[in-house]
Order: sequence, then structure tokens, then C-alpha cells
Amino acid sequence: MVVATPNKTHVAVLSSPGLGHIIPLLELAKRLVIYHDSHVSFLNITTTESSAAQDHLLRSPSLPNGLDIVDLPRVDVATVCSPDIPIAHKIGVIVEESLQSLKSLLIDLGKPKALVIDLFCTQAFEICSQLDIPTYLFFTTSTAFFAFCLYLPTLDHEVEGELVDLPEPIEVPGCTPVRPEDLADPVRHRKTDDYQLFVLLSSRFPLAAGIFLNSWDDLEPVALKAIRENTFYKQIHAPPVYPVGPLVKQDEPLSSKDAEYLAWLDKQPSESVLFVSFGSGGTLSTEQLRELAWGLELSQQRFTWVVRPPCDTASGTFFNVGSELNDPKTYLPEGFLERTNALGLVIPSWAPQTTVLRHPSTGGFLSHCGWNSSLESITHGVPMITWPLYAEQRTNATFLTEEVKLAIRPEVERGKTVVRREEIERVVRVLMEGEEGKAIRCRVKELKDSALKSLDYGGSSYESLSCVAKQWRLN
Ligand code: UDP
Repeated sequence: MVVATPNKTHVAVLSSPGLGHIIPLLELAKRLVIYHDSHVSFLNITTTESSAAQDHLLRSPSLPNGLDIVDLPRVDVATVCSPDIPIAHKIGVIVEESLQSLKSLLIDLGKPKALVIDLFCTQAFEICSQLDIPTYLFFTTSTAFFAFCLYLPTLDHEVEGELVDLPEPIEVPGCTPVRPEDLADPVRHRKTDDYQLFVLLSSRFPLAAGIFLNSWDDLEPVALKAIRENTFYKQIHAPPVYPVGPLVKQDEPLSSKDAEYLAWLDKQPSESVLFVSFGSGGTLSTEQLRELAWGLELSQQRFTWVVRPPCDTASGTFFNVGSELNDPKTYLPEGFLERTNALGLVIPSWAPQTTVLRHPSTGGFLSHCGWNSSLESITHGVPMITWPLYAEQRTNATFLTEEVKLAIRPEVERGKTVVRREEIERVVRVLMEGEEGKAIRCRVKELKDSALKSLDYGGSSYESLSCVAKQWRLN
């Protein structure tokens, strides 16, 4: 049993599995503890597949006093999920199994003043309503995607056939239209379990007492204004939204291997290195991995590349990153490591991403466009090359290239799925040494300043979180 600290507001935070969810919810928990007089119990869903990187993060000695990690009973993934189950559905099944103990846990914890959940944990609404605990949702991706989710049950009702087959972009009320080809994976095919799950989750978001968004006004003015003012969201009783972002990893535990990588970066010229990484789960096919290696080599630019063994599924390490066997020599093109030795550093499986992005030698980020990675790039003033793989990453990539213009997108030949080495060479050169790259770098630095201001005492995101923390204290 956790004993709440006197004079502090005790709140609980519950993340679904996957580092892209755990990392921002943990940052929210830290900010509540450090700046907003709270004691936080961070409820951690554990499974037989929990990753080494996850353990590293949640057992870090640098977590502040007043932030307790509370493990929920371990779920045996093999007994609840079939091996080929799609990713969103798998998360849903694990969460459902895990939350069977939530009610008794919240009672044991002395009924916190509020529970903050992420989007996959909406069963908590009923449990908390029985206990009279207000439940807030922390949406871990963009506000634009949140608006899309709020509109999804209506689309589901009104549109016949597949959303991906619509002839025109989808007009989400008040927001930038979404091209059918950019639709997030779970909503592409109606007959799938993932689709049903997303419609169900989205239809339950209005049950939240409030929504925390990992964004701020200067980054997403259009979508934030829409949710606050457009009549559609009023009609569906969308809860009040609190943009509290960008909440990104501030510090991360560094191993002795990480220190070696950073020592390599220390020796490179300022803003000369392209960081290449595909988030916690991203993996490439054998052919794409080979083309990327060749493209990097041909570009003759410096790089650090987080590499993982090839996999036919784009989210191959989502649940177990850092635990897989990984010897880059066995799958990178023959002689690649030797030929690029002077210009490149290959890091197996996992790198301390925010530390790399913050490093003065890092000058570009080839990213899968997970929302956390995108925010981390912006808050460190690093321009991007977009390489979306799964989930809602295509929507984020379009937002980054076309709306805020902080990134370049490589082109894929018509009818093909693999980006060719010549195209990779081209975009890497454009970003790292071309005029377009310079213009993007200026824009991203402006947005970096605005991000820092919003989080500072008195800034919009600081005040949003402070406002909710005060309400909890008064209750
Ligand atoms: N990350 C990291 N090192 C890696 C890969 C990922 O620290 O080698 C972190 C990254 O900094 C980010 C998170 O994992 O905070 C990935 O979240 P994102 O939303 O970008 O993508 P997801 O993994 O959910 O697809």
C-alpha cells in the first residue's frame, strides 16, 4: 500500500503498454510531482513481454521522490493473445486483462483524487465512477488525431464502405482534412478488430472529466481552436481540453555503452549528424533496410542509426524492444560497417534518443514520426525527414511536412513500397546541406523557443496543468 504524502494531492496515472505511451505519461507524472504539489502513483501494466527499455526507464534512480511505480499483476501475453493479433487489439486485450485488479488497487491506494489514463484504458471510466474518482484522459498523440477520433463514431455511422476508399479527403469539423491514404492503421479496414476497438474507444472519450493533450497552441492552433469552438464538439459533449505539452523525456538513464555513443558525437562537427531511428517499435523489411544503408552511405553525410534486425511487420519490436538478439553485422549489407566507419555510428536496438537529439552535433532526424519523437525533435530544434511506418504516423508525417513545414518526405515510386537508395541519398543531402534544409532548421528553432516558453512557469501549458491540479486539490 502506498502512503500518500501529507499536504500533497494524491493522483494515479495509468498507461497502456508501449513506450510511446509510458514515456509521456511518466513525464506528466513527474511534472505533477515536481511543479504541482502532487504525489503520484504510476500504475504500470506489466506483461510477460515487458521490454528491457521499459524496465530501465521505470526503475531509474532519477525518478523524483513522491512518484511511486506500482506494478499491476503481470499478464501472460501468450495465454490471452494469439501470435498474429494486430497491435491495437493486442494492447486492448492486455489492458482489459490487467485492469481486472484496478478497482481493488485504487481502494488499496486510499482512493486517489483523480486518475489519469491513456486512450487504451477507457474501462477505467466505469470503475472510477463506482469509486467516485474523476478520470482524465491523456491523449498521447496529436490534437488533430484526437479531433479525428472524436469525429470517428459519426463517420462510422454516416459513411458506407471503407474510409480509405473515400474519393475526397475527410472533412473533420474545423480541422485540416485528412487524406484517405493518410488514415491511421486501425481505422483503415472496417471489418478488423482494431477498427471496432478504435470506434469504441473514441465513443468513450467524452466520458472523461478532461483531456490532457501533448501539444500547445503554437504547434496546433487549428485543431485546438476547432475542439474549443466548433459546434460539432459541443454537440457531442467533448470534455474540456488542456494542452500541457510538449511533454518529452527530460532525462534518461545512460549506460556505459550510451556514454561511448555520446563520446563519438562529441567528436563530430556542430549540426552535422543525421540521427536515424524508428521509435520503440519500428522495424524495416530486409529490402528496405538494405536500401536505407546504401542511401546513407551514398549521401556521404554523418549519421547515427538505431538498427534492428529486419522484420516483415513494421511494428516488430513494439512490445519487447531491447530484449531482441541484435548483431548488425548479420543483417546490414556486407562491408557497410567498415566502409562507413569514419562517418557513421550504428547503435543496436535502442539509443538515448533525447540525449542524442539535444547533442550539438545532431543536425537532422530521420524519424518514423511517432508523436513523441516528433515533439522531441521540435523541442531540440532538429529538422526531420519523415518515414512513417504504422499507427497514425502517416497523419503526423503529413502534418510535419505540409502544415508546419518542419520536415521533408522521401518519395516512393508509384506502385512501390520501398524507398530507393537514390531517393534516400537525395533527401539526406537536402536536409543536411541544402537550402531547403536550412529554411526548415530556422523554422524548427522558432518553434523550439515557443515550446520552451509554453512549459515555463506562466506559459500556456504550465498554466493548463496547474489549473487542473488546483481543481484536484480543492476537491
Ligand atoms: N526512444 C528512445 N530510444 C530509441 C527509440 C525510441 O529513447 O532508440 C523513445 C523516444 O525518445 C520516444 C519513444 O521512445 O520518447 C517513442 O515514442 P514515439 O511516440 O515516437 O513512437 P512509438 O515508439 O510509440 O512508435
